[in-house]
Amino acid sequence: MIGDVFTAKTESIASTGAGVLSKMGQKVFTDGAVPGDIVYARITKEQKSWAAAEVIDIVEPSPKRRAPLCPLFGICGGCSLQHLAYDAQLEAKAAILKDAFTHIGGLSELPELTIRYNNEFGYRNRVRFHVDRRGQIGFKAKKSEEIVPLYQTNPPEVKICPVADAGINAFLKGNPSLKRETTVYSFKDTLLIEGEEGKSRGRIRILDRDIILDAGVFFQSNAAMLEELIKDVLSLAREAKGPYLDVYSGVGTFAAFLQGLSPALDIVEENRDALAIARENIENMGELFAVSSDSWAKTQSAEKYGLVLVDPPRQGLSPFFRHHLCKAHLPVIIYASCNPATLARDAQAFIQAGYRLASLSMFDFYPQTAHIESLAGFFY
Ligand code: SAH
Repeated sequence: MIGDVFTAKTESIASTGAGVLSKMGQKVFTDGAVPGDIVYARITKEQKSWAAAEVIDIVEPSPKRRAPLCPLFGICGGCSLQHLAYDAQLEAKAAILKDAFTHIGGLSELPELTIRYNNEFGYRNRVRFHVDRRGQIGFKAKKSEEIVPLYQTNPPEVKICPVADAGINAFLKGNPSLKRETTVYSFKDTLLIEGEEGKSRGRIRILDRDIILDAGVFFQSNAAMLEELIKDVLSLAREAKGPYLDVYSGVGTFAAFLQGLSPALDIVEENRDALAIARENIENMGELFAVSSDSWAKTQSAEKYGLVLVDPPRQGLSPFFRHHLCKAHLPVIIYASCNPATLARDAQAFIQAGYRLASLSMFDFYPQTAHIESLAGFFY
């Protein structure tokens, strides 16, 4: 019941970053608790199959607990795991990913999970800044629409964001004034600012290629991990003959590299700003479908492709598009995912259609947060 207090040991981390405890067999989500913490907590919300609780006291801290680096941790909505040692963060995320495959995907056997990671701080190249009523720049607060300012005019104080790239923190120190929500991208010597004439678009070096991007158009937020992801995409793609199809291609980052293996490469992307850039990133563009994946599937057959790469948003594949790929019996499907739950759901459909899950890797694009990027290879 709401208001009940209890003591329990935290067992795991949920996909939201909250600690998971069990109270008389019921699952209880508790913000701020890490695996191994024994906490004294109070129930704040009660649902049929789960409850939420707030920590009143940490009776015995877990050996995996650590002091968060950022003074705004717990207030700012950006990070949720700074209080958990980094190796334990990776362990927790691997458990969430595997759990999705077993519980949502219904898979009993998984290929060995490869875990790739890099710097746990200073990694984030792409940041969306919000502006509060006083013109201060910041991030959205945890569970609210309030803005947590990073730069205060009175008294003057510059805060930095420890997960952001050095170039973004240098930008903040320059007391930037932004009129509205703005995305800033920084990598090495490149600093791009959405909407600023002459500064919005640029190119960066990713592995052995220059890639064009625009701060106002989606681009992966962690360049070092993106390089690892591309390497793994390429090693899976080497198993497949062309032609290739890149769906949800964005500015064509994967396609730019894939065309080295198969010059016959088509793309599907509904965002025209992204497509305009993709045209420049891909030298030998095959067919370019400026439509949604569903519209594409209504008029095109997938059978002719040796490889289809998909990188959908959080909701994963639509039932219609998923079914289209299931019945095409493609030699290779490469699935880049930012949501283990929808990846596992889609994987179940592929496997029921006769595909085999040949590989699964996790990429820690977002240390200190519970976001999970992964890459699955399906072979028919
Ligand atoms: N693979 C790219 C982009 C991934 S983000 C990269 O790594 O940079 C997902 C992309 O899918 C976005 O560019 C978005 O515009 C596009 N998108 C989202 N829903 C779509 C749909 N239903 N059909 C086609 N494209 C879609």
